[in-house]
Amino acid sequence: MEDVIVIGAGAVGAFVARSLSRYQLSVLVIDRENDVGDETSMANSAIVHSGYDPDPGTKKAFFNVAGNRMFPQLAKELDVDFGQVGTMTIAIEDSQMPMLRELMKRAAENGVPAQLLSAEETKRLEPNVNPEVKASLLCPTGGIVNPFALVAHAMENALDNGVRLSLCETVIGIVRKADFYEVRTDKGVHEAKVVVNAAGVHSDEIASMIEPIDWKINPRKGEYYVLDHYAPGLVNHVLFPLPSAKGKGVLVTMTTSGNYLVGPSSEFVSDKDDTATDGMTLADVKAQALRLVPSIPFNQEIRVYAGLRATPSTHDFIIEPSKKYRDFINAAGIESPGLASSPAIGEYVATKLVGAVIDLVPKADYNPRVRPYVRPLTLSLKERNALIRKNPAYGYIVCQCEKVSLGEIQDVLSRSLPCLSVKALKKRTRAGFGKCQGGFCQPQAIRILAAHYHETPLEVLYDRVGSHIVIDETKKEAK
Ligand SMILES: Cc1cc2nc3c(=O)[nH]c(=O)nc-3n(C[C@H](O)[C@H](O)[C@H](O)COP(=O)(O)OP(=O)(O)OC[C@H]3O[C@@H](n4cnc5c(N)ncnc54)[C@H](O)[C@@H]3O)c2cc1C
Repeated sequence: MEDVIVIGAGAVGAFVARSLSRYQLSVLVIDRENDVGDETSMANSAIVHSGYDPDPGTKKAFFNVAGNRMFPQLAKELDVDFGQVGTMTIAIEDSQMPMLRELMKRAAENGVPAQLLSAEETKRLEPNVNPEVKASLLCPTGGIVNPFALVAHAMENALDNGVRLSLCETVIGIVRKADFYEVRTDKGVHEAKVVVNAAGVHSDEIASMIEPIDWKINPRKGEYYVLDHYAPGLVNHVLFPLPSAKGKGVLVTMTTSGNYLVGPSSEFVSDKDDTATDGMTLADVKAQALRLVPSIPFNQEIRVYAGLRATPSTHDFIIEPSKKYRDFINAAGIESPGLASSPAIGEYVATKLVGAVIDLVPKADYNPRVRPYVRPLTLSLKERNALIRKNPAYGYIVCQCEKVSLGEIQDVLSRSLPCLSVKALKKRTRAGFGKCQGGFCQPQAIRILAAHYHETPLEVLYDRVGSHIVIDETKKEAK
């Protein structure tokens, strides 16, 4: 019998698990994918929103602001790339000025530092912004984060502190027994005193396994362009247009790896697994972005992608026990700003909601830090040479585009969090994230994963169960 089962290993599930790992509890996290953070948490804008935008008094506003404040310390503990670069919301027409002032008011009510800048001040900070700019709202506490590392390192830290993780396991039913839950999956049955539902776009299906619910998750797709990282200085902050009923609008930002991200669109879809992109939507994203920054070098585009927002019919995060049972806890409808909010949601779910039904006894040996990651590219030439002399694997470059060494890959494979697929390796190390998108390093990634986990490269997966890359040997000896 587990004390707590967390369903879902996205940002929310990972931070719930990490917060629970401070206490003497048996905690099992279950996810249907073969890596953590493999759904919405890997396909978003990766902005640590400051909290100027959500309506004051909502859970979105509360958790966004609380989460944002945790990031500087959290990024150190989890060794995650995070930059507090600030966000700017840009008014390009006079008619947008009342909305900009309204956002300034909302920021003040939410306790978020914000400053209205004139057109000249905006252009001084962002020389490439549309010259028709009328004014902007600068929020210096907004930032950018590596979303892949955020989830993976949070889960790694939880595992280092005793949490267990089961991947490739889908929850198919939950039965309430006298004073515990039977969680049925495609692999068997688990028992738990408390269940936390952090299943993203599927959280309404999980919630309705134990009682009828009066809310629904409507998946809302967002499509993006990713540009290469060879033209620094296009934008210095995260640039947003004015928000609308469809969300925060198409932004232009640099990522923590120096790439540019342009998007997202905002369209409701019916299929909760539909992350396809389409040319018409992307063309519209491009047109909107060029209105904000006319000189975006779209010839540097290296990839497009889409993610699904778990938009709740309630219009606010649903972070509460179910109506009937205090020990069945929903962390559902976590659309944007869910990534920024996830550390605060994790803390609240663990200490206030799980803590209300189970005794939380702190562990004496809890360690909030992951083992530091070695990043050769951030070292001086002298330091890098010393590192390579100590471990020559750091001198062997596997991914030429992103300059990822074998040493970094070996480090990832030695950690508590499994890295089971080529895509997982890409998310952990950036091997395959560059211009060639794995064209050159993927064969090596396959060989490395095969040697670590399998008998043969034929067993290595690109992503989900069944996504084999190598199907036969082409140069085997004739029998
Ligand atoms: C286009 C877009 C842009 C965004 N931009 C931002 C941003 O800039 N900043 C920000 O703060 N937020 C942003 N967000 C929101 C943010 O990405 C999400 O709020 C956050 O990732 C949600 O995390 P989650 O853990 O709730 O969901 P997920 O990451 O989707 O995790 C849910 C997990 O549950 C698992 N699961 C589902 N059903 C089952 C089952 N039956 N059995 C087992 N496992 C199951 C899934 O496999 C998945 O791993 C954006 C979202 C989108 C789509």
